Amino acid sequence: MARVAEKLNAAAAKRLIDSIDNVLFDCDGVLWHGMDTIPGGPETVDKLKQLGKRVFYVTNNSSRSREQNAEIVKSHGYLAVEDEIVCTAYVAAEYLHEQGFKGKVYVMGTSNLAAELEKFGIAHTGTEPDPPPECFKLKELMQTELDPEIKCVLVGFDINISYMKLIKASSYAKKKDCLFLATNDDPFLPLKGDIVIPGSGVMVNSVRMASKRDPLILGKPEKPIFEVLHKAHNVDAARTVIIGDVLETDIALGSNCGLKSVLVLSGAATLDDVHAYEKSNNPSDNKFVPDFYTDSIADLLPVLND
Ligand code: PLP
Ligand code: CA
Repeated sequence: MARVAEKLNAAAAKRLIDSIDNVLFDCDGVLWHGMDTIPGGPETVDKLKQLGKRVFYVTNNSSRSREQNAEIVKSHGYLAVEDEIVCTAYVAAEYLHEQGFKGKVYVMGTSNLAAELEKFGIAHTGTEPDPPPECFKLKELMQTELDPEIKCVLVGFDINISYMKLIKASSYAKKKDCLFLATNDDPFLPLKGDIVIPGSGVMVNSVRMASKRDPLILGKPEKPIFEVLHKAHNVDAARTVIIGDVLETDIALGSNCGLKSVLVLSGAATLDDVHAYEKSNNPSDNKFVPDFYTDSIADLLPVLND
């Protein structure tokens, strides 16, 4: 049956709050938009915490450590500790740790991604790009040295993406005994304006295409990001809501993991986007329809204060 999103009026908000113990907040578009904090947002999160709800800040952005994310969340006036940050750099490190991973990781990403691995004592190759070939000499490229200790390729957001990195990452990913992980596969950053800022999906799909292998995607909307949270904090899916502004990542995570979901219209998605998925004839589009929608997280405040 086609799903239809319900407006989060006061009665629905009360029902929702009573039915959950944990709130997962996507950040940009939900807690702030661009540089601007969502009015009433910090008070809403404070109140949820006072009522005993556990709060987590969940982001696909793999270019920052938990500590850096916590600083950004705090700079907008939200109460946050590092332990509440679930960013994909941390998820990657925790995932490998949980797997009892032995070996070295080839990292296509930023030094902050590598630093999260280091916190778990996971060896990696560093993130400095190899010097580019002076000219295209196939014979030389075919002699690119591969490190036999590498047992995982981890691809995330990489501002130093290079041809040499693509050669190495694709060659490792092609090896059967090598894990192929992607932090997330967002096609672009959720920004307004004429300039397209490519996201991790561009790096991930380059390696996927060249290696002819699909990665395990760790971030939203895939399950590992929630599974890591579930294991680390004993978060019960049935008593958890995700509040996000992107249907294809935040809301689909809710559907994939059995969480309740709320779309806020303070960020990327519009109500027309929701209606388009509601009317779609493709049953798999159901997962992009939130349980509830509302303008802003601050709409919860009067209900919480009641
Ligand atoms: N990746 C990068 C590099 C980003 O800068 C962002 C958002 O700004 C994202 C991914 C999307 O992250 P989120 O899940 O917080 O929307
Ligand atoms: Ca967002």
